Amino acid sequence: MDTDKSKILLIYTGGTIGMVKDYSSGALRPFDFNQLLKSIPELNQLDCKIETLSFEKPIDSSDMNPSHWINIAEIIASNYEKHDGFVVLHGSDTMSYTASALSFLLENLTKPVIITGSQLPIGDLRTDAKENLITSIQIAALKKRGRAVVREVGLYFEYKLYRGNRTTKINAEQFQAFASLNYPHLIESGVHLKVFDEYLWLPQRSRNFKVHLKMDRNVVILKLFPGLNEKVLRSILKTPELKAVILETYGSGNAPTSDWFFEGLREAIKDGIHIINVTQCSGGSVSMGQYDTSTQLKKLQVVSGKDITTEAAIAKAMYLLGSGISDKLFKTIFETSLRGEMQ
Ligand code: ASP
Repeated sequence: MDTDKSKILLIYTGGTIGMVKDYSSGALRPFDFNQLLKSIPELNQLDCKIETLSFEKPIDSSDMNPSHWINIAEIIASNYEKHDGFVVLHGSDTMSYTASALSFLLENLTKPVIITGSQLPIGDLRTDAKENLITSIQIAALKKRGRAVVREVGLYFEYKLYRGNRTTKINAEQFQAFASLNYPHLIESGVHLKVFDEYLWLPQRSRNFKVHLKMDRNVVILKLFPGLNEKVLRSILKTPELKAVILETYGSGNAPTSDWFFEGLREAIKDGIHIINVTQCSGGSVSMGQYDTSTQLKKLQVVSGKDITTEAAIAKAMYLLGSGISDKLFKTIFETSLRGEMQ
């Protein structure tokens, strides 16, 4: 492995990593990142060239939306040839959504895109930001026989690199804020960086890198709960221009068997709305037909999200609808793994 001479583009979007405390309110708010970078002399010791670029107005990731994802994808695409790897600094709250979205928007990546952030600001004495930032840059710079080791969108946090579109934020306090329950991590940072080659995404070499810049926001996530009533279900499914519903079901894809529930979904599907079944469990897969309570969903030809995360499912729906894919093909393509986001 060698990391020398790699050119890395560091893109700062906001998030705790670059925040400072507002003295009057005591709340954290984004700060000029270039100023903060000056306080990390360790960066000069890295064996690569780092260029930085910041959102004009850094944001808390709760304010992220698909226009920002497209903006990040555009920045990466327009700097793709000039750099060997990309590190995106981002708030942890919606980091898994952004990582998932970027994985779809950036097709046939042959260079690493590593998204990271921290639970404590980089200026804090006990910060987790330095390790996350420095190791992310090292991973983005990793090469083997002249070729990038990671050729996908990864999420690095607390000593582990995960496939970005497999992650979920699981903890608002602990440094270990993310998990990838349905796919093993790709790299572990200890005394050495341990790369698990067998889990890395292998791009098809004959295909060229391609950036997609459209996302359709006529989608919704509907989480089932005991007590969901007909009025609420109908009003959601009758939302004007709604095109896809990520239906978070129980366990292995189970849902109530009441007639009104079945009828509501049947009418929505007849109206051309795609219903995608994902499990509200953090791990495991949808398997329609395993129980009576999912057999009727199968009969309705509901799309199976298999073991996809909700974050990746909503991003994939927005991406596929944005690509103008035909209604006929939607189910088949959604049920196919495009970037390693499902089994
Ligand atoms: N609220 C912050 C954000 O997502 C939290 C973080 O960065 O960890 O921007």
